[in-house]
Amino acid sequence: MSKKWDYSDIQNWGPGRHEVGATIPESGTADDYETGGWRTDRPVLDMEKCNHCMICFWGCPDSAITVKDSKLTGFALKHCKGCGICKAVCPRSAIEMSNEKIACELEEK
Ligand code: SF4
Ligand code: SF4
Repeated sequence: MSKKWDYSDIQNWGPGRHEVGATIPESGTADDYETGGWRTDRPVLDMEKCNHCMICFWGCPDSAITVKDSKLTGFALKHCKGCGICKAVCPRSAIEMSNEKIACELEEK
């Protein structure tokens, strides 16, 4: 949750506390929320094929590709929308899209 702005009770705000249009109190606030909840497909990485070129990283519109020490580590599924851009731009076919429902069922087993 944002440190500068206390909007923890935003559900109770009436019209008087909302600006016209969107209020974005500071950058990075989307990180506080799960925005990938309506994804129908999720990316799955084949680490054997990946050469860490980072083309998918730059192509992802949601900054949902995770990197550590200059190496691709996976996907932030809390924010990934399942758009498939990462799969489309990968030159090594290292990413496949998997049905979200089936992937969740497999995770629960
Ligand atoms: S574009 Fe493909 S090969 Fe390059 S980092 Fe992403 S998954 Fe790996
Ligand atoms: S599917 Fe879309 S949102 Fe998810 S990691 Fe790939 S490019 Fe990003």
